[in-house]
Amino acid sequence: MNPPLGTASRDRLRIAIQKSGRLAEPARSLLAACGLSWRESRDKLFCYGESLPVDLLLVRDDDIPGLIADGVCDLGVVGRNELDEQAGERERNGLAPAYRALRGLGFGQCRLMLAVPEDWDWQGPQQLQGLRIATSYPAILRQWLEGQGIDAQVVELSGSVEIAPRLGTADLICDLVSSGATLAANHLKPVETLLDSEAVLAGPAGGFDDARAGLAQMLLRRVDGVLQMKDRKLLMFSAERESVPALARLLHDAGPLVELPGANGALSLQAMCDGAVSWQRLEELERAGARGLMVLAVERSLA
Ligand code: ATP
Ligand code: ZN
Repeated sequence: MNPPLGTASRDRLRIAIQKSGRLAEPARSLLAACGLSWRESRDKLFCYGESLPVDLLLVRDDDIPGLIADGVCDLGVVGRNELDEQAGERERNGLAPAYRALRGLGFGQCRLMLAVPEDWDWQGPQQLQGLRIATSYPAILRQWLEGQGIDAQVVELSGSVEIAPRLGTADLICDLVSSGATLAANHLKPVETLLDSEAVLAGPAGGFDDARAGLAQMLLRRVDGVLQMKDRKLLMFSAERESVPALARLLHDAGPLVELPGANGALSLQAMCDGAVSWQRLEELERAGARGLMVLAVERSLA
């Protein structure tokens, strides 16, 4: 049976992730890469951690900050946009910030932007004075308008913000943009960025004072180990000693060239590279004396 939600369990960590949507799959993959595995409940809302005492709660992304604030969940994977919006909302209501972003996770990238009808001649924020702006992010927008010293009307909408100008309910919008295709399809153009967002691992503003502290620390270390190695490649090859200086020059932008004792007098060498290692690069290294070149994906590391 699932443990009751809402009572903070002290010896298991509970992480909220989006049930379905843009962040659902990448959040699960990241946690799986951290060595977690689960047994799903029949209602598919709760996943019981099998490899570690770390359970998942599958929810709407909008609910994640509140679940952390209320102590129902210990950690959550949520867009910075959602976290900042709800923190702004709490601030307006005189509540203390109850959570914080612990790590940027490198997926779910998007921007919260102002977008205006395509035929507008955009001259800057001062143009917004007295206009109506439709958004699902009223707290962030109000904060930004205050910062700019602009008095505009914020029209709160929970969805389909991009059609508001055509419907005449607003003059422009403030919405999340990634490719810009939705804006273009609605004859809008982005003009100002209010927030650069990505998915973050969020946790409570204070720490934990029980078994969850150790679990959270271990998880963060593993998350760092996975994120640091993302896109890294280990380059391995052998070479005669006299070729090493030339090879080291070719690999000046990689990590240090590590020498391992090799067979028949040749050296075994390895270097960590950021990003893809092209065929052209391998051929250059080969011309400089590298043999048996191998490029290996690196999954994780423990720093
Ligand atoms: P839910 O049913 O969980 O409430 P949702 O419709 O609010 O789902 P998604 O559209 O899946 O949520 O977006 C989740 C998060 O993905 C956003 O809060 C944002 O951080 C990120 N994101 C990345 N690109 C975009 C984009 N182009 N539009 C909207 N969100 C984006
Ligand atoms: Zn949502």
